[in-house]
Amino acid sequence: MPIVSYSGPARDWDALAVALAAAMGGASRVRREEPLGPRTTLRVGGASRLFLEPADAAALASALRFLRAAGVPFLPLGRGSNLLVPDEGVDGAVIALEGSTWSAFTPNGDGTVWTGAGLRLKQLCGLATKAGLAGFEFLEGIPGTVGGALRMNAGAMGGWMFDRVEEVELMSAEGEVVRLPRAAFHVDYRHCRELGDAIALGAQLRSGATAATPAEEIVRQIDVYRRKRQESQPREASAGCMFKNPPGDSAGRLIDQCGLKGLREGAAEVSPVHANFIVNHGGATAAEVLALVRRVRAAVYAQKGVELQPEVLLFGRRWEEYL
Ligand SMILES: Cc1cc2nc3c(=O)[nH]c(=O)nc-3n(C[C@H](O)[C@H](O)[C@H](O)COP(=O)(O)OP(=O)(O)OC[C@H]3O[C@@H](n4cnc5c(N)ncnc54)[C@H](O)[C@@H]3O)c2cc1C
Repeated sequence: MPIVSYSGPARDWDALAVALAAAMGGASRVRREEPLGPRTTLRVGGASRLFLEPADAAALASALRFLRAAGVPFLPLGRGSNLLVPDEGVDGAVIALEGSTWSAFTPNGDGTVWTGAGLRLKQLCGLATKAGLAGFEFLEGIPGTVGGALRMNAGAMGGWMFDRVEEVELMSAEGEVVRLPRAAFHVDYRHCRELGDAIALGAQLRSGATAATPAEEIVRQIDVYRRKRQESQPREASAGCMFKNPPGDSAGRLIDQCGLKGLREGAAEVSPVHANFIVNHGGATAAEVLALVRRVRAAVYAQKGVELQPEVLLFGRRWEEYL
C-alpha cells in the first residue's frame, strides 16, 4: 500500500495490534498509540495508531503482507528529521528499523561498504573515518538515517546521497526483497521515486577516494563542514530546511528578504538565524507550525511571486490538504 494520505474507516486497532504481533513473531515489537513527536527532531505531533519494530526482514515482510491484506497504510520512520507529524497523529502503521540488525556497517575491503537502513549518518561518518573511507563527510551534520537519506536523496556541501550509492536493497509493499543497482533509481532534489512505496533495507556505498584515506584528513574535512553548519543553522529543535530551494534561488534568502525572520505562532518561530528553519521553542503544536508555513508561503508569494514548496514531509498526509 503506497504511503499516501489516509483517513480510513474506524478500525479495531487493538485487535490489529494483537494479530500483527502474532504474525511478526516474538522478537518484534508492536505498540499502540506511540507518541511520534519525541521520535522527530522538530518534536511536535500526535501518536501512531500502530508502531512496529520488526526484528528482522522476515518479520518486516510478514508485517507488510498483513497490513496489505488489512488495508492499513504503512510509513517507514527513520530519525524523523525531515518530518512534521500532524497533531492528530498517523492513522496507520509506522515502521521503525531499530537495533543492530538494521544498522550494519560492513566494509568490503574494495572501497565499498554495506550499510543498514537504520544506521545513523553520524555513525556512518564515524565508522567510515575509522575505516579510512573518505567521501561521506558531507553527511555528517544531517541528523538522519541511511534509509531516510536514500528516500530524500539527502544532500549537503555539494554532495548527494545517491552520488555514493552502488546498490540499494529494498522491500516492496508486497514484502519482496530486491537489490537494485544505482542505475535503476530515479532521483532528484530530495526525492527517490523507487522508495515512494517501498522500504530501503540497506545500501552498498562507495568511498569517493580510490585508496584508504588517513583518518586525520577525513576528520579535518568533517570539521570544516561542522563549523559551516554551526555558523549558519539554529540550535533549537527543527526539521531542517522547511522549504525546497526554488530553481536557481534560495528559499532562506527569499524568506529573509520578506522580513519574516522571527515571525511566531505560539512556540513555533521562523528562525532568526536561518530563515528557512522553523524552530520549536518547546511545546509547539503541528497546527502552529502549519500556520507559520502558510503565512510564510503567502508572504513570499505576495512579495516575490514565488510559490515555495515544502521540503519537510507531512507524515501520513498530503501538504495540499493543509496549504
Ligand atoms: C538540523 C537539521 C539539518 C538538516 N540538514 C540537512 C541537509 O543538509 N541536507 C538534507 O538533505 N537534509 C537535511 N536535513 C533533513 C533530514 O535530516 C534529511 O532529509 C534526512 O535524510 C532524513 O532522514 P531520516 O532518517 O530522519 O528520515 P525521516 O525524517 O524519518 O523520514 C523521511 C522520509 O523518508 C522515509 N523513510 C525513512 N526511512 C526509510 C526507509 N528505510 N525506507 C524508505 N523510506 C524511508 C520516511 O517515510 C519519510 O518519507 C536536516 C534536518 C535537520 C533537523
